[in-house]
Amino acid sequence: ASGIPRADGATPAMAQWFAAKAAHPDALVFFRMGDFYELFFADAEAASAAIDIALSYRGEHRGEKVPMCGVPAHAHELYLARLIRQGFRVAICDQMETPEEAKRRRAPTIRREVVRLVTPGTVTEDALLDAARPAWLLALAPDGDRLGAAWLDVTTGAFGTESLPAADLPALLARLEPAEVLAPEALARGAALAALSERIAVSDPPRDGPRRLADTFSVATLDGFGAFTAEEAAAAAMAVDYVRLTQAGALPRLSAPVPAGARGLLQMDGATRRSLEILRSERGEARHSLLAAVDRTVTAAGARELAARLAAPLAEAAPIAARHDAVAFLLAADAVRAGLRAALKGAPDMARALARLSLDRFAPRDLGAIRDGLARAEAMAGAIDAAAGVPPVPALVAGARAALMPSDSPRAELARALADPLPARLEDGGLVATGYDGELDALRRLAAGAREAIAALQMDLAQGWGVASLKIRHHQQFGFLAEVPAAAGEKLLRAAPKDGPMAPVHRQTMANAMRFTCAALAELDRRVAEAGEQASKRERAVAQHLRRLCLAAAPAIAAAAAAMAELDVHAAAAELGADGRWCRPDIADRADFAIAAGRHPVVEAALARARGPAFVPNDCDLSPGRRLCLLTGPNMAGKSTFLRQNALAVVLAQAGLFVPADAARIGLVDRLFSRVGAADDIAGGRSTFMVEMAETAAILNQATARSLVVLDEVGRGTATWDGLAIAWSVLEALHDRIRCRTIFATHFHELTALAGKLPDLAPATMQVREWRGEVVFEHRVGPGAAERSWGVHVARLAGVPRPVLVRAQEVLKALEARARGLDPLSEELPLFARPAAPAPPAAPDHPALAALAELDADSLSPREALDALYRLKSLL
Ligand code: ADP
Repeated sequence: ASGIPRADGATPAMAQWFAAKAAHPDALVFFRMGDFYELFFADAEAASAAIDIALSYRGEHRGEKVPMCGVPAHAHELYLARLIRQGFRVAICDQMETPEEAKRRRAPTIRREVVRLVTPGTVTEDALLDAARPAWLLALAPDGDRLGAAWLDVTTGAFGTESLPAADLPALLARLEPAEVLAPEALARGAALAALSERIAVSDPPRDGPRRLADTFSVATLDGFGAFTAEEAAAAAMAVDYVRLTQAGALPRLSAPVPAGARGLLQMDGATRRSLEILRSERGEARHSLLAAVDRTVTAAGARELAARLAAPLAEAAPIAARHDAVAFLLAADAVRAGLRAALKGAPDMARALARLSLDRFAPRDLGAIRDGLARAEAMAGAIDAAAGVPPVPALVAGARAALMPSDSPRAELARALADPLPARLEDGGLVATGYDGELDALRRLAAGAREAIAALQMDLAQGWGVASLKIRHHQQFGFLAEVPAAAGEKLLRAAPKDGPMAPVHRQTMANAMRFTCAALAELDRRVAEAGEQASKRERAVAQHLRRLCLAAAPAIAAAAAAMAELDVHAAAAELGADGRWCRPDIADRADFAIAAGRHPVVEAALARARGPAFVPNDCDLSPGRRLCLLTGPNMAGKSTFLRQNALAVVLAQAGLFVPADAARIGLVDRLFSRVGAADDIAGGRSTFMVEMAETAAILNQATARSLVVLDEVGRGTATWDGLAIAWSVLEALHDRIRCRTIFATHFHELTALAGKLPDLAPATMQVREWRGEVVFEHRVGPGAAERSWGVHVARLAGVPRPVLVRAQEVLKALEARARGLDPLSEELPLFARPAAPAPPAAPDHPALAALAELDADSLSPREALDALYRLKSLL
């Protein structure tokens, strides 16, 4: 790497640094020296700039000063967190022995090794993690036009795979929001991953993926886990190999990978997710998202599960209904729900504690988390049992109940073994409760006994040395020493015995005190230190025993943790519906869609917070015969809200939650498309119109008869006639060819004339009334079309100066008068003749209209559409 000089001539310690850097050239090396992790050369410069720590210089290497910065070892996680968040990787190079051990070996310096590579997708420390989000490491193994994908979360052991068309990668990235992506060079440098460039590690899929994967899980064949494609297995093996690399050979506990195969998920692309603000708002904040509005979970693991469900709703009726059954049960059984939530509140994150235990990178509180988590799980099982029988416990709740009480639970043993409260760090001692381990108790008694003897010796020495104020104190470096005021030193040397166990030996003179030891004190000091050392050694052994105990039960503990998270989600969903304003959606395998008095959960919550007018519920019926709702109405009347709330109803319902409505019948949706809100792609350098057309193309190419499409203002990004023409043809394609359920909002009132021509089109409008010359938005969706444009009224609301408004009114009148003479919908104009009837050869007299009539909008790529528009404009 640049800025790293050649290694020759380095001191022994620096030679170790150079070796670590050579092994991990893309990582910053955290090099342990005593109480600090030090960074050198270019690493130091990068880190000091990135996280604002002081850069200094240390010694020389090949005649140049060595740039250096350091972070205290005890607080290094905080610095690590900031570096990782900025996209750095860090190689931790630790001291593998004490200076004494090195001296004994006659080694020139302490042995150091890279014990771990910290990367965004493989961290396990709470300080580095978002408690409420899964931290996916995603591996991608391309194979022709297919892509094997495997994602795993080292902090919980969750592990999934999927084989998908390469073109679907953006949607997969939008669904998983991976913390880190592994991909071979060509893919890593390609456009699809460009936005994630800081979170990509280059890595090649192994050729023997299935065998490596089978070895990892100690099985002869992967068949037991499901059917993997070759590329799925390659991706999975790639992910596992990478985790092993970053953990210096160790592998955290992983669940068996689950191949997605035909597991039905609701397909949503990135633009749809952004537009619906599922996990975060368009501005990127979690606060105003769907998740934030519906999250009533009480644990971090529950919040993660809910986020995962909203990000990946299902598309099969039976598993969705099973989730609804669980929610309905917990909604009816108030006592069960209250019992579950009480037990969950404050419950520790067992899944993540287990991951740290399995990597042998745990703190006492991780053992405590297993002990307490299992106790909570038992309490939850009790709460469910209390309701046994009436009403019948649904399958998902019964299944979770069974997992809550593992038969080989280490809970009882942990309860006996662990002290309360637990120390923060293993090194602090005091992890093991008195009475659990006889040997440890004996060692602790020995140390305590010696300490008592020292207290007794202090009195003897004060007397024997003739200094009443003598105190025995413990010093980190020197052990126990007797301290007297400096002025008493002379007297002491006269009075004290000259030989024997209490003869003083001078150790230190300070400004106002002198320190001594004697044979008796030194002996006691040795006994305390030795017993202490042995006790902590024994304690470490006991901790390891407890760790192994947890790992032996790891699958059961992980299952209990997953059951807790699942019950948290179901109980939270029931809690959300407890006020009776959320309904269980009726999910059917038909192309229905009928929502009665539906609401937008985020807008509703915002209105409630602002204590403004209440949210106005609206019906939406897209049943056969009225599949396509053409929605008109002025800006600010609530069109986008209505579009989004119906799309969100699908997300909620198919994620297994209830829906904010009086009633909802939803025919399963296979793909959901939402194009509402800003479409600018300034960073991508595409115009609003170009983005809009590209997204429209995606819908026209991918939507099926089982999809739901909500579209706002197609064609707004260009001149009126272009826009109208495009909106028109898109609407026709959706109605005639794709035949999906659609809500299509538009400001082209001309389109409403299509109502008579497209049998499944139902016009609707946002109701607005005028009151004392002011426009009042009722936010109510009614049948029919908007009678007029209210843009000028909205301009007044926004504070546009009066003269401009008056002039706008005049211009509007004139335009409307002219438009009446040029009605594009009049039958004489073949421009908008139905494509079923071939365009009449008698071309309109304007060359632009003639050219437009010849366009086959369905067959144009976005690029061609743009070119065509420019051509059309040039004809005007
Ligand atoms: P449009 O898309 O027509 O410009 P929006 O959907 O953005 O309008 O709505 C504008 C504002 O009107 C929202 O921010 C919200 O405060 C309010 N609003 C929208 N729908 C409703 C409703 N159903 N009930 C109450 N207020 C609403």
